[in-house]
Amino acid sequence: MNNPFRHLPSMTKLLEAPGLVAARQRYSQSLITATARAVLAARRAQLAAGASGRLDVDSLVADIVACLDAQSQPALRPVINATGIVLHTNLGRSPLPEEAARAAYEAARGYLNLELDLASGQRSNRQDPIRTELRRLTGAESATAVNNCAAATVMALRAVAAGREVIVSRGQLVEIGGSFRIPEVMATSGAILREVGTTNITRLSDYERAITPHTAALMRVHASNYRIRGYTRAVALEQLVELGHRHNLVVIDDAGSGQMIDLAPFGFPDEPLIPASVAAGADLVLFSGDKLLGGPQCGLIVGKAELIEKIEKDPLMRAFRLDKMTLAALEATLRLYRDPASALAAIPTLRMLTTPVVQLQARSEALAERLRAIPGLTVDVRDAVAYVGGGSLPDQAIATIVLAIGASRWSESTLATRLRTGNPAVMARIQEGQVWLDLRCVREEQEEELLAAVRQAVQEELHPANSPVR
Ligand SMILES: *Cc1c(COP(=O)(O)O)cnc(C)c1O
Repeated sequence: MNNPFRHLPSMTKLLEAPGLVAARQRYSQSLITATARAVLAARRAQLAAGASGRLDVDSLVADIVACLDAQSQPALRPVINATGIVLHTNLGRSPLPEEAARAAYEAARGYLNLELDLASGQRSNRQDPIRTELRRLTGAESATAVNNCAAATVMALRAVAAGREVIVSRGQLVEIGGSFRIPEVMATSGAILREVGTTNITRLSDYERAITPHTAALMRVHASNYRIRGYTRAVALEQLVELGHRHNLVVIDDAGSGQMIDLAPFGFPDEPLIPASVAAGADLVLFSGDKLLGGPQCGLIVGKAELIEKIEKDPLMRAFRLDKMTLAALEATLRLYRDPASALAAIPTLRMLTTPVVQLQARSEALAERLRAIPGLTVDVRDAVAYVGGGSLPDQAIATIVLAIGASRWSESTLATRLRTGNPAVMARIQEGQVWLDLRCVREEQEEELLAAVRQAVQEELHPANSPVR
């Protein structure tokens, strides 16, 4: 007698509702029909499972429109990074300089002389422009670029040490992110890992004793994401180079982050400086393009011309080489380093890392004033500590300022979720029972959007959750 399905409107009735007729301005009839059918089916399933709920046309139409809107958003979309973590792996690490983003855009939408010498009309090497810039910047004989530093490590080891031994300190057998682990990368490349020393102490004599006729290289790996403190000793690159060259071995420096100009005055004393590694005599220096260098995702190899040539001849190079957009963005980023002072301003990663706390304080105070006008929101401006990189440089701490916010209606985790799923998406930190917004990685022109996003997250009702056809 009491059949709940009886109250569900028909498809025809739904599709004629003014809300869905209006939706035809934005969405195709076939998409609207398919979405309506899916929402209706989901509602039927809920009823069959004994759930109650509104069955009127208006509430169904609202669900269908919300569902259409949700589907119309691409899965990958811009996020306001309010975490204060400059190199956030999950948020794409380095944002590109304007010049680099523009170069990538132009390369993407048209043709370019990727492998063509315009003067002679002859075929050229796609690595040449990058090589020229990197030689100038680092003092290295030659250079080449691949998809990331993991690929750079594999390529360097294959060229230098396939089937032969590479000596690495036990204190440097790092794991960087999920799958980059030195022992496994070494195995993938075909080189044989020879560990020496202990976790905290490795001496030059440890390396020396391990050298045999099977040894091809000595490798230093920068401990990007951890520190060994206390009673420790590592061998300086210069000493490793002296030892290696005395035994005719190649010395590889996996420097990791790609610091090109000295950031020590800004409070980052522990990252290797690429030109210094080259000057120390390392035969190959490896680093990422999208960590401290502040460019697109890639891996850079600088060093001896003969070794770079060997790497470029490896058939795997074809699998790891960069595409035109990345090459264009990389060249543009590297060109900015021709003038180190302007690089600090023009490269977002460097600009964000070196933003003075007083500047963040002033911006935070001003935004706090405006946030306090939102009913139901508490706002506190306070000192905090941020970390340079989630997965890549988590040990590099910087003093920062945060807006610590709390909503009377929502718990901190609900508020953070609402910010993350809003439009634009905002990624914040949850700490000490509050949601922390750090303006370090928020561009000034994004502050309006951030303000609107917080207002929306604090005040508006949630969209119907879990749209059935996502
Ligand atoms: C980050 C890092 C890598 C891996 O670089 P990706 O560009 O993420 O592949 C390798 N070695 C060191 C020392 C690093 O810091």
